[in-house]
Amino acid sequence: MAHTIEHAASARAKCRACGERIAKAELRLGERLPNPFAEGEMTHWYHPVCAALKRPEPYLEAAATTEHALERREWMDEQAALGVAHRRLPRVDGAQRAPTGRARCRSCRELIEKDAWRIALVFYEEGRFQPSGFVHAGCCGEYFGTCRVIERARHFCPGLEESDVEELKRAIEVRS
Ligand SMILES: [Zn+2]
Ligand SMILES: [Zn+2]
Repeated sequence: MAHTIEHAASARAKCRACGERIAKAELRLGERLPNPFAEGEMTHWYHPVCAALKRPEPYLEAAATTEHALERREWMDEQAALGVAHRRLPRVDGAQRAPTGRARCRSCRELIEKDAWRIALVFYEEGRFQPSGFVHAGCCGEYFGTCRVIERARHFCPGLEESDVEELKRAIEVRS
């Protein structure tokens, strides 16, 4: 079956990308995948916006054929296209100041100094998003091939304040 966008029949499903529950009647995106344990297919559910950011191909397929009006459709289409063009971009899972100086940047391999802004990464493997380390904010251009990570980081870290975002922007620009 094709990927789908539909109104949630219940509030039981959680979005695989952000971990939050999908409210009953809210639009949700179902990615169809072969079931590794049985005949047939299984469905992974997402908020449409979360799918646009972290599963761009299924999002674009489902959005192309849906009869539902999606909020922020143009923005989501644009973000999904960016995620297809830059293969690592869907790994963005948020941004924060490093709480310690122990993590190494996946791009430059240097330690990320305490309190420096870093981008958190998840790798999509076998239907799951695995926490997979960090890159310096300043290494975004090198690692992702684009510096357009802020909207993604904000979506997955809704607690970021305006002042945080300003700092993050400066940190991204400094070295890129
Ligand atoms: Zn979500
Ligand atoms: Zn780095």
